[in-house]
Amino acid sequence: MERLERALAAKRLVVKIGSSLLVDEEGELRGIWLDALAEDVAALRREGRQVIIVTSGAIALGRRVLRLPRRPMRLEEKQAAAAVGQIRLARAWEQSLARAGLATAQILVTLEDTEARRRYLNARATVETLLRLGAVPVVNENDTVATGEIRFGDNDRLSARVAVMAWAGTLVLLSDVDGLYTADPRHHSEARHLPLVEAITPEIEAMAGEAATPVGTGGMASKIVAARIATGAGCHVVLTAGAGLRPLSALRGGARCTLFPARTSPRRARKQWIAASLAAAGRIRVDAGAVAALKRGSSLLPAGVREVEGRFERGDAVIVEGPDGVPVAKGLSAYDAEDARRIAGRRTREIAAVLGWRGRDEMIHRDDLVLL
Ligand code: GLU
Repeated sequence: MERLERALAAKRLVVKIGSSLLVDEEGELRGIWLDALAEDVAALRREGRQVIIVTSGAIALGRRVLRLPRRPMRLEEKQAAAAVGQIRLARAWEQSLARAGLATAQILVTLEDTEARRRYLNARATVETLLRLGAVPVVNENDTVATGEIRFGDNDRLSARVAVMAWAGTLVLLSDVDGLYTADPRHHSEARHLPLVEAITPEIEAMAGEAATPVGTGGMASKIVAARIATGAGCHVVLTAGAGLRPLSALRGGARCTLFPARTSPRRARKQWIAASLAAAGRIRVDAGAVAALKRGSSLLPAGVREVEGRFERGDAVIVEGPDGVPVAKGLSAYDAEDARRIAGRRTREIAAVLGWRGRDEMIHRDDLVLL
């Protein structure tokens, strides 16, 4: 299937790993499996591809260390288990990736971090920098500060949000099943595997059901939620079985999976998001040269800024208007209103001297900007 090949050839992949792949029923880490997966990641990196890992397993690992009984845990117990287990989890990743010659970066986020615009800009910039420097970001939810109930399966959604934030081409969900079936294959022998799901219809949702396995996964329903988030933002989603050694190689070698193709391009999805869903908190008036540059697809540099109006924070949406006051663009400001005023009209190399710290070169990066 050509579309699958294209999805798997994405330059940037997010790979989500569920607790049941990493941790066995005894609460023991599956070290050999993890070493092999690290080899898979290293192979992708050697091809010049970038990989971001979203990993569960903190609670499953911590539970054993704390000898918590095998009954459903209270929220505080899960948070305690996560606090203990996350250290082990990060160490395990660090060791396995190091053996494969890769540096590991631990990133703990809450779902809100991937939604709130200010944190989003920072998180994205950090991930971008880590990837450029060759490190593998290893992401989990910051369970100890999560205020809502921690549900298994939350990491499916988190992985989709991370994929959207990082503009990944493809999200690979490694699971304990090799794709979506017309019914739960464990109970229905007539269940049929679906290699391609073009649209997440109510029928597809009904097929996913609510089932969850005891060790970890949130079942198919949370995978479908993840697929909806990611595909709507321009990211392909591939669901496949992860339990065998080197599941990413297996996938590339033709292992069974379900592809949910992206429903738009990441660029278009992002521009739509900026244009339609964000209210502008301020206005930036620019000179004619800057208007021309923006229309050619450039970023907005401080040098072209004449006036800054309104109160906004870094990451807020602002309207950019020409010398005549006509709106020309909308974008996410890399500076808050006060700093934007201070660097207005200045050359990029002067920013550090004016502010006393080195910020972004652009007032609004072209990736964060849409022409109106
Ligand atoms: N963040 C949780 C953990 O690391 C798992 C959540 C999930 O499995 O979706 O234990």
